[in-house]
Amino acid sequence: MTVRTRFAPSPTGYLHIGGVRTALFNWLFARHHGGTFILRIDDTDTARNVDEALQPILDGLLWLGIDWDEGPRVGGPHEPYFQSQRADRHCLAVEALLASGHAYRDFSRPEELDLERKAAQAAGAAFIYSRRFAAMTDADCNRFIAEGRSSVVRLKMPRTGSLTIVDLVRGPVEFAWQREQDHVIQRANGSCLYHLASVVDDQDLAITHVIRAEEHLSNTPRQAFIAMSLGYKLPTYAHLPLVAEPGSRTKLSKRKLSQYLKNADFSQITDHGTRIAERVGLTVQSDTFNPVVVDFYREVGYLPWAIVNYLALLGWSYDDHTEFFSRDELISRFSLEKINSSPASFDPKKLWAVQDHYMRGATMAEKLAVMLPFLQRAGLVPSSPTAETLSLVQSIVEASGDRLKVAGDILAYADFFLVDHPLMDQAAVRLRLEKPGIGSLLGSYRKSIAELSEFSKISLEESLKKIVADAGLKTGDFVHAVRVAVTGKTVGPGLYDCLFILGRESVLRRIDSAIKLCPPATT
Ligand code: GLU
Repeated sequence: MTVRTRFAPSPTGYLHIGGVRTALFNWLFARHHGGTFILRIDDTDTARNVDEALQPILDGLLWLGIDWDEGPRVGGPHEPYFQSQRADRHCLAVEALLASGHAYRDFSRPEELDLERKAAQAAGAAFIYSRRFAAMTDADCNRFIAEGRSSVVRLKMPRTGSLTIVDLVRGPVEFAWQREQDHVIQRANGSCLYHLASVVDDQDLAITHVIRAEEHLSNTPRQAFIAMSLGYKLPTYAHLPLVAEPGSRTKLSKRKLSQYLKNADFSQITDHGTRIAERVGLTVQSDTFNPVVVDFYREVGYLPWAIVNYLALLGWSYDDHTEFFSRDELISRFSLEKINSSPASFDPKKLWAVQDHYMRGATMAEKLAVMLPFLQRAGLVPSSPTAETLSLVQSIVEASGDRLKVAGDILAYADFFLVDHPLMDQAAVRLRLEKPGIGSLLGSYRKSIAELSEFSKISLEESLKKIVADAGLKTGDFVHAVRVAVTGKTVGPGLYDCLFILGRESVLRRIDSAIKLCPPATT
């Protein structure tokens, strides 16, 4: 049997991190078995513009390297892959269920059902619809229609016994039929409901394994009933553990983000990301720009594989110690049997550590590829940079080393190199330059730099140390002052790297401007 899995998102306008984990496990399972991974768009219940709302989902998956073999953009033998375009198939299935007696037309009015519901409640019993308005024959239908009633189609669910599904994550799960209702599968206006559509589409797309979030476990009995009644072979189910809030067992929800931000680990990465996004002119809106949504990580400059590797470990493990996997390793080692059924708590700190690991291991070419676009978007580097600019950026990246945790960090480390006059951070100026004696020390350093026979990191360091020693000061204090003088800020690559990369002329010019900010020497 060829494995066929699917990820079936609704076009919501954003790709939720929990959704990616579902997509990833389907993708890994298909890739592991040399099968087919399908992207199906569940767009029947959406009032939104589907194209617009789908774009971030497709882009996000592709950015992460989760590619699909059949679906939007790539097509495939089972087109269309949009649920809304398969309505005729869904309606045919409803007709088949009616014909076989597994469904019925129900002419009840909402208030009549309510009365039954209330009566059951008053009797302390579970609500079981009397099926009083179920039309079993054409004559029934005509009678109800004559009464001015309209009908929906309901499943005629079993009321006794149970169904046992062998879930690949949870093992055998038993569902008692008496807990089910006669679910509606077609509305009065003829449109079909989601669960019916989903089952028919899974069958038509020849899905072998339905791997999805735990919240769909409770939908399984009605879906299985529909499938069995239509004579389909049931797919194999695997319900993945919840992606939970940090340090909790409750589902990670986009709506509760403001609460999560009280968690320091979360707010740290959000604040960091916001600073980066603002530098490239993004309007930061918390409903799309937040760490529950994949776009956030892209805009901030995480490496896609860091996200994938981290998400793979949300509920799955290979053994009790391996944390890092290449793409091929993950594909070859992945198995549904190793998925744990308890909720997997999303840990922003852990994700940050995984990102750090991959950024440290990235080659210069990889770093440049992810960092240059940030400099370009911020207008610091032109869209077609010269070889000279590229080599300057490369030196900055090299000198910044492991301080660059996400690609967007390059903005803070490179900006002052790429402009003629650095923006002076006023607090840093007050702290480091507005001190008695600093102006004349900077003057001495300027003089010795101008006279250096060889402009190198070593000579820059030696001459600075000499000036400090002659003045009887601490090296650290003056290093900070020179840094603010030439870069305008307190953070950046090592000072001598900065000076060397800037070049002698620029350094002299910058020190001259900084001296003007220092208090005049008192005699
Ligand atoms: N469209 C459903 C969702 O977004 C898919 C459910 C399923 O995988 O069966 O949750």
